[in-house]
Amino acid sequence: MNQLKLKVKGTVFDLQRFSLHDGPGIRTIVFLKGCPLSCRWCSNPESQPKNLQLMYMSKNCMDCKQCLKVCPTGAIDFHLSSRINHSKCNQCGKCVEVCYCNALNMAGAIQTVEEVVAELEKDTIHYRRSGGGITLSGGEPLAQPEFTEELLKACKVKGWHTAIETTAYASEDALKSVLPWVDLVLLDIKHMDSHKHQAYIGQTNEIILKNCKTIAAAGLQVIVRIPIIPNFNDSIGDVEAIAAFARSLGVVEEIHILPYHRLGQSKYEYLGHEYQMKGVESPKKDHMMSLKKAIEVCGLSCKIGGIS
Ligand code: SF4
Ligand code: SF4
Ligand code: SF4
Repeated sequence: MNQLKLKVKGTVFDLQRFSLHDGPGIRTIVFLKGCPLSCRWCSNPESQPKNLQLMYMSKNCMDCKQCLKVCPTGAIDFHLSSRINHSKCNQCGKCVEVCYCNALNMAGAIQTVEEVVAELEKDTIHYRRSGGGITLSGGEPLAQPEFTEELLKACKVKGWHTAIETTAYASEDALKSVLPWVDLVLLDIKHMDSHKHQAYIGQTNEIILKNCKTIAAAGLQVIVRIPIIPNFNDSIGDVEAIAAFARSLGVVEEIHILPYHRLGQSKYEYLGHEYQMKGVESPKKDHMMSLKKAIEVCGLSCKIGGIS
């Protein structure tokens, strides 16, 4: 194994312990910032840009104006409902330090591989007892390829099971540098129609479909995940097309279908962005069951939700 580079830095926006849905056993999920896609339904909009981002929660604000006093760039603007002029903000964090009401928070922190591994080590006993491990998610882990590679490598040295949740929208070099350190790929495929993909996600799907074949050729365990989004990919034909492609890869035995939810809606407000899915309801249980059956008819097993 190459020498570990524990000082490599990455931008992490969350770490979630005791997950039972993102790989086998009990897992810790590390969420990395940066995603080349911009899905309208994204429940983690703070994950999309690679840089840190200030979030403002108006419901917590007591109008004390301490943030205004310490901001060195004039980015705090009480005339804006979103309170922050993001074009002026340099993410120095001074306003967060003085905001005792928790109305201002910084999404993301720059951490070394060593610092993240030290956090993950606290859960080692759970990985060992449950057959679990770590899962890198995002954002898109392949958007920070060096950090992802070095973090996975360090986890493998510890003997932990490793998984990545990926959109497969990445350079071939990034993919090839990361795959040797991965045990399980949770592969998000959202639509087989490239035009529709671009309209709802901001990019066509050719790179994704090509990279799916590279992932399959690596001989890893691959589980395909489909977020089920009303009026985008929630027809039987939509999921059958993805299932047929998944089956053609030769290594996929299981598909997870994840019903659209609105849990991330408030984050759009905190970032001063518009939520484009207003009024869209989650798919009904009966409909999810019929999509599951359609995938099973294609010869693959299917679960609604993640691993459990
Ligand atoms: S410091 Fe926090 S609570 Fe005070 S005005 Fe600024 S955002 Fe509101
Ligand atoms: S992070 Fe720094 S620059 Fe941005 S609003 Fe807060 S104090 Fe101003
Ligand atoms: S791929 Fe995931 S993280 Fe990226 S925009 Fe879509 S939902 Fe958000």
